[in-house]
Amino acid sequence: MKKRIALIAHDNKKDEIVELASEFADVLRQCVLTATGTTGKRLSQEVGLTIERKLSGPLGGDLQIGAELAEGKIDAVIFLRDPLTPQPHEPDINALVRACDVHNVPCATNPATARILLSQLTPRHPSHS
Ligand code: PGA
Repeated sequence: MKKRIALIAHDNKKDEIVELASEFADVLRQCVLTATGTTGKRLSQEVGLTIERKLSGPLGGDLQIGAELAEGKIDAVIFLRDPLTPQPHEPDINALVRACDVHNVPCATNPATARILLSQLTPRHPSHS
C-alpha cells in the first residue's frame, strides 16, 4: 500500500522543502501526498508532484492535516518549521506535532531528519527485498 505523506513548510523554509522534494522526487512519486496550500502549490509547480492541497497553514491547513492524521490517514509528516519567526498559527502547529506524538506518526521538523525519514521510504533494490 502506498505511503501517505504530508508536507508543510513555513515561508522561510519553502526553498528547502522544494530542494528536499526534488532530491526525493522518485520516492515521493510513489506516495500519496498532501500539503498545506502554498507549500503544495510550490511542490506541484516546481517539482511536478501530484499533491492534494489543503488550506494554507495560517487558515487551518495544519489542522486539516492533523485531523486526517488522527483518523489514521497519514503515515509520515515532513514539517519544516521556522524556529526563528513567530507564527500566527502557533497553536495549530503545536496541535499537529502533538497529534503526531499521540498517534506515533513520524514527524520530521528539519531537513536533516526529513532526509533520514525519506531515505527509509526509498524502495529497496529487488535483490535485497
Ligand atoms: P502554507 O502553510 O504551505 O500554506 O504556507 C504552511 C504554514 O505556514 O503552516
